[in-house]
Parts: sequence; structure tokens; C-alpha cells
Amino acid sequence: MKNEIKIFSPATVANVACGFDVLGFCLDTIGDEMVVRKTQEKGIRITKIEGYNLPYEAKKNVAGVSALAMYNDLQPDCGFEIEIYKKIKPGSGIGSSSASAAGSVFGMNELLGKPLDKTKLTYYAMKGEALASQCEHADNLAPAIFGGFTLVKSACPLHVLELPTPSDLYATLIHPQIEIKTSESRALLPKDISLQKAITQWANVGSLVHGLHTSNYELIKDALNDVVIEPYRKQLIPYFDNVKSAVLEVGALGCAISGSGPSIFALSKSEATAKTVQKAMYNTYSKTDIQFETYVSKINTEGIKIL
Ligand code: ADP
Repeated sequence: MKNEIKIFSPATVANVACGFDVLGFCLDTIGDEMVVRKTQEKGIRITKIEGYNLPYEAKKNVAGVSALAMYNDLQPDCGFEIEIYKKIKPGSGIGSSSASAAGSVFGMNELLGKPLDKTKLTYYAMKGEALASQCEHADNLAPAIFGGFTLVKSACPLHVLELPTPSDLYATLIHPQIEIKTSESRALLPKDISLQKAITQWANVGSLVHGLHTSNYELIKDALNDVVIEPYRKQLIPYFDNVKSAVLEVGALGCAISGSGPSIFALSKSEATAKTVQKAMYNTYSKTDIQFETYVSKINTEGIKIL
């Protein structure tokens, strides 16, 4: 059995417009790399972090917290070292913390001969994610671990549904280099919503799921609308409405806030349209004084990969 493994742990988009706290999908070209190594010395140690300044102490790093939760339950006859090569900026809204929390437990599971299934890995990863977001949720973790589109039917007990990915679907993202505190974007949300909005939203979630199952791009387009969260959160993202109207004009199926922002994602049918959408995002934000990055990615149906 191997003593060391190198993995790609992908960025993910949570919420997917209408699916607040339940839907997510996995990206292909954006993600961290991690090395997980078995050691004779027991315990979990983070021995290298490159890219961003994050805590080495296992209990303060989401990768360490998820690893410790799994380690304490399984009590293996070895320890683990974790190296994190961080490419996803923390706080960007594309699952930076989730990539780390999922990567460590995935790597350990491989080195232990895969005793755990993907749901159990997500369960342990949630323990790490709770460090970053103060609550256990899986809407970024599930797509990172399962790949493709996922729906978290319930977090406790954890029940993840894997949804199909239409083959021509591509994502485009823009990450404005501004900071939005998750607490701030949560605080903006209403405690109650009207029945009318709830009906629209669950009709959209059902339609999106059906659209994914039937590769019905017109239905996906129709369903990618969020009447509950976006009206509140978009005010934290400068030029959100400009980006959205620009990308819809050039053929994107839909556009919404990725996770709690500030990243914005769009979905398109075909890579060519996704690239046109990228240009539209680029043109909109180049007129502002905010730094930004844009990406195009196929939907990653595999999730975390061994390199
Ligand atoms: P994102 O949606 O990009 O993951 P979050 O706000 O959920 O953003 O998570 C970022 C927070 O988690 C930051 O406060 C960061 O310091 C903390 N954190 C702890 N460990 C890690 C890690 N290994 N990777 C990323 N963020 C981490």
C-alpha cells in the first residue's frame, strides 16, 4: 500500500442560484494540490502550506480539523503529514476551505485502503468546514468529494444526492478581489420569506434538477433564478447586475453569486459560449477600479483526483 499520495482538490460553486444551502457543483481547472503522507509518529501534522498564509496548527486549519475527526474515530496504527499547495484564495466564495477539509480526509482514506465511502468522507470534512463557517454544512464539500452536481438532501443525518451533469455544460467565474465576511453576508438574509417567493424558488430547484437529468438546457436556463437570497446579497458585490446582464446578453444560461460571494458564476452550453461569457465579465469589470480574475471550467464530474 502507498505511503504518500498527491491529490487535486477542486474549487466548487455552492447554492447554484436557486439551491441555497443544498445545491453545488464541482470545477475542473481551479483547485488546490495536497500531499498526504503516512508517518510512524502518531497524530496529524500540517508540514507545509504554500500560496496563502494559513495556520499550521492542525486544530486551527480546516484540513487538520477534518483529518483529526476521522483519525480519532478510526484510530489507525500510524500518523499523517499534510502539505497544502493553496491556489484557491480563502474567502473567495468558491470553496477554498472545503477543498482543504475534503482533501485531507480523501488522502488519508486512500492511504488506509479506502475504509470509508464518500458520504462518510463528507461527514468528516464537515467537521473541518465548521471551523471556517461556524456551522456544519456540505454544499461545497459534497461536489468536491462526489464530483458533478450534488444536492444535500439533509445534513443531519447526512444524505447527498448525485445529480447528472449534461455534457455540454461549462462554468465561467469572475472573482472580484474584495473581501466579504461570511458573517456579514449571512446577517443580510431575511429570517422569513413570503409563500410566493418560496413557491417560485422550489419550482426553480425542482426544474433545475429535472433539467440536469434530461439535459434540457432551456429548462436549466429558466430555472437558474434566485428570488430569495440574491436580492439581499448582491448589494455586497459591486457591479453584480452589470455582470449578470452582460453575460445573459451574450448567451449564458444563467448567472448568480457563487456561495456567499464575492465570486460570480455563469453556466453556459458549450465551451465557446463560456469563453464569450468570460470576455463579457472581463469587459464589465475592466471598466472598474477593482482587481479581478476570471476562469472558464468544465464541470468536473470526478471530484477530488489522485495526481
Ligand atoms: P471559501 O468559501 O472561499 O472557502 P470561507 O469563508 O468558507 O471561504 O473559508 C475561509 C476561512 O477559513 C478563512 O477565514 C481561512 O482563514 C479559514 N481556513 C482555515 N483553514 C483553511 C484552509 N486550509 N484553507 C482555506 N481556508 C482556511
